[in-house]
Formats: sequence, structure tokens, C-alpha cells
Amino acid sequence: MKTYKIDAIVLKARDMREADKILTVYSIQKGKQRIVAHGAAKPNSRKRGAVQPFCFSEFMLHRGRELDSISQAELREGFSELRLDLDRITAAAYVAELIDGFTAEEEPNQSIFRLFYSTLHLIAAGGQTGMILRAFEAKLLGYSGLQPELNHCSLCDVEIQDTKVSFGPQQGGLLCKGCAGLEKQIMKFSRGTIEILKTIYRWELTKLHQLKVPEALKRELHMLLRTYIEYHLEKRLKTTEFMDRLYKTIPGRGTNM
Ligand SMILES: [Zn+2]
Repeated sequence: MKTYKIDAIVLKARDMREADKILTVYSIQKGKQRIVAHGAAKPNSRKRGAVQPFCFSEFMLHRGRELDSISQAELREGFSELRLDLDRITAAAYVAELIDGFTAEEEPNQSIFRLFYSTLHLIAAGGQTGMILRAFEAKLLGYSGLQPELNHCSLCDVEIQDTKVSFGPQQGGLLCKGCAGLEKQIMKFSRGTIEILKTIYRWELTKLHQLKVPEALKRELHMLLRTYIEYHLEKRLKTTEFMDRLYKTIPGRGTNM
């Protein structure tokens, strides 16, 4: 089969020589993938409207030697409301960046695709961006196999019932007093923050706007997820750097991608 179809959301688009664009997309069928949109940077290109970041489009792709290229593009949803203000476009860019950071090429994951799509919808609709992003982060971690342990000690498995709890990003969740005392870079959170995180994991994304969260706990939740994400992204980025170096040593492979 020389051509095939994907339903994809554009993560990012980069201009290349001769009005071409290289897109990174996330599709239902193939997960993350880099594809070429020939001539898409020309003002009169028919593909132009379908290849912008955050567009949900149907692409017919033609197999290429290195990257597959778009032969037809049809916009399904442009999420134009995302571009209405800085808050929404920044949130959407962050969501796309995390999807890019936590996924590998050609590893489709329906749950991640649905999460991405629903999150863009919620941001576009102008909901409470902060909580939408926290829920997105938590669920993305979960679908990437990194859901933090929130009931038992991550090291010795004892049940945790304290009101102030210790969290170890490196250990992947809560720690009991005994274990926390022996580890470095442990953070302290209130029980309420952990309970909110558990609720996020239990509830559908679209129901979470009903969750009333005090400001102090929102800040804690933000801190917890950010630290945990940074820890894993850093680990992941190191792997990517290694892959890039490896790629550059293979003759005939372009280094400008
Ligand atoms: Zn323990």
C-alpha cells in the first residue's frame, strides 16, 4: 500500500526549504509521526488550513523513503477559539509539548489521543485552564504507565494514612515516614492534595470542572505534578538525545530533522 489515511492532530509545524513544512502529528492510527506537507507554506496552498498546530485533520499520506508526505488534507476541526487569547494558546501549546515529550513515534494509544482531543476541546471552550491542565497532566502520566502510587508507600508498601504525606518523584509516589527519612528530594503535601489527585484519576475529564478545589491545594497539586513530570521528561529527553546521536552516525540519514 503506497497511500494510507490518518486522523491526526498537529502537534507542531516547521517550515522547510521550498515552502514545505515538516509536521509532527499525533494520530489515532499511528500515534506520533513526522510527515511532510509539500508546498504547504505557499499562500495559495489548499493544505494550508489543515496543517496549523492543534488542527484536527484527515490526511492521505504517500509513503516516502524517510518521511511520508501528505497528498490530501481535510480539516475536521480547527479549534479556532484556541487562538483567541494568549492564555488558551499557551495552554494548548503546553499540552502539545507534553504529548510530544511523553510519546514515542509510531506507538498509537487511543487513550492518549482521546485525552489530547478532549483537552483541546475543554481549553477551546474557555474553561478553568489550571484544573484542565492538572487533569491532563495526571491522566497523561497514567496512560504513559507512570501513574503515581497514592495509597501505599512506593518502597515498602505499607498503607499511608497521615495528614501530611511525603512524595518522592524518583520513587514514583507516596512514601511512609520511615522510607522518606532515608531518601533525598522528598516533597511534603497535604492529604487533601492527594485526594484530589485520586479523584482526577477516578473521574472523566469532562466531569472534572465540577470539582471545587481550594487555591492552596491547587498550588500543591501543580507543584507535585510539575516535579514528577520534569523528573520523567528529563529521563526521557536523555534517551532522545542518545537516539539522536545514534541517528547521526548512520550514513545517509539527514541530521536536520
Ligand atoms: Zn515505606
